[in-house]
Amino acid sequence: MSILLKNGSLKGEKNVDILIENDKISKVAPGNSIKDDKAEVLDLTGLIVLPGLVDLHTHLREPGREDAETVATGSAAAARGGFTAVHAMANTLPVADTAGVVEQVWNLGKSIGLVDVYPVGAVTIGLKGENLAELSAMAESTARVRIFSDDGHCVSDPVLMRRALEYVKAFNGVIAQHAQEPRLTKNAQMNESELSGKLGLTGWPAVAEEAIVARDVLLTEHVQSKLHVCHASTAGTVEILRWAKGKKVNVTAEVTPHHLFLSQINCESYDAKFKVNPPLRTDDDINELRKALAEGIIDVVATDHAPHPMEDKEGEWSSAAFGMTGLETALSVVATAMIETKLMTWADVARVMSEKPAEIGQLTEHGRPIAENEIANLCIIDPNASWKVDAKDTHSLSTNNPFHDMTLKSKVIHTIFRGKFSMKSGQVQK
Ligand SMILES: [Zn+2]
Repeated sequence: MSILLKNGSLKGEKNVDILIENDKISKVAPGNSIKDDKAEVLDLTGLIVLPGLVDLHTHLREPGREDAETVATGSAAAARGGFTAVHAMANTLPVADTAGVVEQVWNLGKSIGLVDVYPVGAVTIGLKGENLAELSAMAESTARVRIFSDDGHCVSDPVLMRRALEYVKAFNGVIAQHAQEPRLTKNAQMNESELSGKLGLTGWPAVAEEAIVARDVLLTEHVQSKLHVCHASTAGTVEILRWAKGKKVNVTAEVTPHHLFLSQINCESYDAKFKVNPPLRTDDDINELRKALAEGIIDVVATDHAPHPMEDKEGEWSSAAFGMTGLETALSVVATAMIETKLMTWADVARVMSEKPAEIGQLTEHGRPIAENEIANLCIIDPNASWKVDAKDTHSLSTNNPFHDMTLKSKVIHTIFRGKFSMKSGQVQK
């Protein structure tokens, strides 16, 4: 079985033909130069070809909350969004804190076969922040875990954080921190500001994130380990990251599509679809996050796709769950925030949504050059599309997408996973 992609724009730079045979790219040549009578031919004139997208931060909810999402539905949403690899966060029921659970998630991902699912292992047993989980057993399991995170919770105890950073050095692991000082965010509901006072919602100060990022950067330097900062959301965090990178501390960071695009003003609606952890911040924060991403101070975009059933997002703001879905809209939000504004090019998008995340996850078959003999993981985008998001039109089991009714630019049209279409003309190939 072979596929011939004709005259697509490689990362927006030059037009090429790409021949795919079995699971590999067998030939890349100038546009409209390859002929192959046996191949399925697709004309990609006017479309952008990127390496398949890689997400470092996805909540697939299985095992335990199959009413919110399953590995199957999350994989379908990922394929539709142009992803060929996702990292599944550990806050499931049971928690992914043993080799047994990470292997279960790994095997589920493989059996569904729409996207590679790489489990993230918990840092502490039960995400309780008390004792380290079996980090090396997870690293040595068939799931080959390299990223560890208590995401949803912060590893707030500095002694435990130090020990975790030291421990993962043995297998070149990375600790991905959800930076949230728990005592500074007790009952917090939205960004701390004049607006939170006006709305009567408990404030979530920027310093609650920044204090942990600063501490962790210093700990990482002290023990010479690797840190990844989840969902950076403030200008102050960007400043700390800039300082840390200047000092060559081994730290990487992600920003979510929603923190690049939505601000605390959305909270005025009291619509809990805008309730998220960390909270939506100010326009100044958004500007600094965008600049930092373009500059490489923030390394990657990660979705923090966090599905919740309707009943957990309805009703009072204060009792609603934190989180938003995002796999199917991520590329379009990033294109609208970063390409339409001319802050980044398509090659930059390839870097922050595929190449860099694959490097941080130590994936050898994703985020690779689009070249002969590479595994064919590709994402094909219409850069001229303009579309209105309908939260109900989703493969996710949940509809808590905050971009509902907004108009976004660019759209993923096809996804090729290991040489086969996982999504074709908008249709996920089950
Ligand atoms: Zn988090």
